[in-house]
Amino acid sequence: MRFLPVFLDLQAGPVLLVGAGDLARAKLRLLAAAGARVRWYATDGQHDLSGLSATDAARIEHAAGDPLVADLSGVIAIICAGAGELGPAMSARAKAVGVPVNVMDDLVHSTFIFPAIVDRGDVVVAVGTGGASPVVARRVRELIETVLPARIGDLAGFIGRWRKTIHARIPEFPLRRRFWENVVDGRIGALVLAGRKDEAEAALKVICDPSAFAGALVSGEVEGRVTLVGAGPGDPDLLTIKALRALQDADVVFYDELVSPEVLDRARRDALRIPVGRRVGKPGIGQAAINKLMIEAAKSGQRAVRLKGGDPFVFGRGGEEIEALRQAGVAYSVIPGITAGLGAAAQFEAPLTFRREALRITFLTAHKAKDAEAGDWSTLTDEKMTVVVYMGMTAASSVRAGLLAAGRSPQTPVGVFARVTRPDAQASVGTLGELPDLVEKIDGGPAILIIGEVVAHSAPWRHQNLNQVLSELLDAAE
Ligand code: SAH
Repeated sequence: MRFLPVFLDLQAGPVLLVGAGDLARAKLRLLAAAGARVRWYATDGQHDLSGLSATDAARIEHAAGDPLVADLSGVIAIICAGAGELGPAMSARAKAVGVPVNVMDDLVHSTFIFPAIVDRGDVVVAVGTGGASPVVARRVRELIETVLPARIGDLAGFIGRWRKTIHARIPEFPLRRRFWENVVDGRIGALVLAGRKDEAEAALKVICDPSAFAGALVSGEVEGRVTLVGAGPGDPDLLTIKALRALQDADVVFYDELVSPEVLDRARRDALRIPVGRRVGKPGIGQAAINKLMIEAAKSGQRAVRLKGGDPFVFGRGGEEIEALRQAGVAYSVIPGITAGLGAAAQFEAPLTFRREALRITFLTAHKAKDAEAGDWSTLTDEKMTVVVYMGMTAASSVRAGLLAAGRSPQTPVGVFARVTRPDAQASVGTLGELPDLVEKIDGGPAILIIGEVVAHSAPWRHQNLNQVLSELLDAAE
């Protein structure tokens, strides 16, 4: 991020506009609509205000003389649009005195840039692309326009009017935040968004115990809770809407080493982020310590999210964690996530079931060669069963031995799918007989193994075959 989005207070002082023609007038319209006071140096001497309302026009002061020697005291920003050579010169002066300056279409001479704006009264969304592409910014803006309720600005204004009153009645910050969340997410928020402001006003007035409305316990304390959230295999767009909401509401996030930075980035900005997983080469803090941290956080009234790679209940020890929470009397809930096996199947087009070919799926873990050797492979003899192996990289040889011993053909198609749904995802496909070599071809985990006829339908398999056919044809042609 090169440009930090901030909102300038237009009441703090005038904006200096330097320039002429349509470009200057477009900026004038934008500034006027936002309610700015503008001191305009029209470089062609034409102070044409046509198209502006009388009130907007009244806030525009026509300046004369050389803007390069203008008094800049109190000026909150300088904007050059259609100013020609004056732009860079104005920029140098602004930089020297520390006033933010924008020279239109000139990143080098600008210390701030204009975002694309979604304007809903008190709710304003600014979209930037670091100056790279205004067209992309506009498309994002369109998307936001379509999902934002029309009266979202009214809702912010409504809350703004009640803020002080409620602040006085609920001094504790966490409880107050929950109060407003319940307002926004509940009936009162819905009434405002439906344009029924009077009813919303009445409903808020009759809340005689705001603390109780915020969900406080009889003791007056806020109730904490733990939400086990499935983070999916890496791509943040694969989070469920519930997962996103839990992350946005979290006070603290305890996350595993498998959680991608992009997913973690979706948590509330000021949520505390605590890594509790194993790091490369370093052990984690241990399950008992994780349980203790979660319980303490919830008991102190925090909303804790336990963020786990994939799904919490698929080789994620989620079961043990909720048992500990239950024993400690802590409120909890579980939000599923897309498990790595499903992520791999979707990304690499390896359907886990297929009419007549694959009628069953087994998810298993082979953490260590020892586990794999001890595993009961006899249950995996069915050729129409797809086997998905978690943590199977180091035990690949034992997995192969086990499946061959169970009578699976060494020709069974196999895929090793690494870092699935991440930007650096990788696949290597071949046969069960080649499994350890396939694992060797992978540049690091985490990786999942999919074993069964269905792998022959996968995209990497099809490409590999195509390449083989092509090279045979080329050989034949030579
Ligand atoms: N709860 C997780 C699994 C945790 S066990 C889930 O549902 O996905 C850890 C194993 O999951 C890894 O050893 C690897 O086999 C698999 N895994 C997790 N994330 C992965 C990813 N992005 N790509 C491939 N495999 C992954």
